[in-house]
Amino acid sequence: MRSASMPPTAGTGLEPGFRGVICVSFGSTGDTAVPDTDGQSRFDLHFEAATADTLSELSSVFSSSRVGVRLVLAGPPTDIRAAAAVAADCGLVGEEVTLLPQETGPRFIYCPHCLSTTIDETADTEVKCQGCATTLAVTDHFSRRRGAYLGYSAHAEEAA
Ligand SMILES: [Zn+2]
Repeated sequence: MRSASMPPTAGTGLEPGFRGVICVSFGSTGDTAVPDTDGQSRFDLHFEAATADTLSELSSVFSSSRVGVRLVLAGPPTDIRAAAAVAADCGLVGEEVTLLPQETGPRFIYCPHCLSTTIDETADTEVKCQGCATTLAVTDHFSRRRGAYLGYSAHAEEAA
């Protein structure tokens, strides 16, 4: 389905029945490394971030793709994981999807104490919650629902 009101730019050029590699990269630099696709046909998309608009555009791209399409997602972990969740909703799963996270981008850390989300650009193992100033230890557990890594109080035993 293509609406006449849609801009003719990014994201609308995927042919029906496309078989090949869809490379989606995120980030403001545009120098995201995407692997060689061995001569397979390739469809490149680049976005600054996984915004709601971006994800809905990706959803329409993924929905129009067929079995046999491979998907490569590259960029900051938060963005590519959000895109991966959209891909999963569209039935692209497992070995069809390759995630290439760049660990240099900001992370979002969810605080279980005050339920706020802190943007962390330091990549340290501990961050200070912007909501309640608790020192949070950052876990590897990423919540797709919250779009953030879960933190926990790093010094809970001392705070008592
Ligand atoms: Zn907090």
